[in-house]
Amino acid sequence: MHVYMLLEQHYFLQMCRKYCYDCNMNSTDQLAQVLKQHGQSITKQRRCVFDALQGREPQTMHEIVSNCTQIDRASVYRAIALFERLGIVQRLQTGWKYRLELSDEFHEHHHHATCLLCGQSQVVAEDSAVEQQLHRLAEQLGFQLEKHQLELQGYCAKCQYLLKD
Ligand SMILES: [Zn+2]
Ligand SMILES: [Zn+2]
Ligand SMILES: [Zn+2]
Repeated sequence: MHVYMLLEQHYFLQMCRKYCYDCNMNSTDQLAQVLKQHGQSITKQRRCVFDALQGREPQTMHEIVSNCTQIDRASVYRAIALFERLGIVQRLQTGWKYRLELSDEFHEHHHHATCLLCGQSQVVAEDSAVEQQLHRLAEQLGFQLEKHQLELQGYCAKCQYLLKD
């Protein structure tokens, strides 16, 4: 009984995610909805931080703060802490540093290639074979895969050129 309920919930979540990609609900409405589900409301500060994250590849806290000029640093940190708790943003860990971007619910799932020299992240083209292989590997472990992150690390074309000198 419990297993079925969990499975049902799982499929429902997947459907919701799919639904949000396909429907025309704009991302700010979606943000408002997630916040409301958790008894929170959309404030000027939260809206500002959300806007700073939208359409951008992973950023450091420092970059997010400098992209939110109208609000103070403490408000940015508070909004990010809330967004992380509610799964609105996700952390990408590279060594002891991390960067933040909107989670797969707000930004279609993708992988990154991050340069070890300049720190720039590029989006890796979607590849269904990679996705399927990851699901197969999880299945072999009897593991119910909920999400994953995949990051390639190395040197971007520009830095490869600089390193040659
Ligand atoms: Zn990204
Ligand atoms: Zn680079
Ligand atoms: Zn993936």
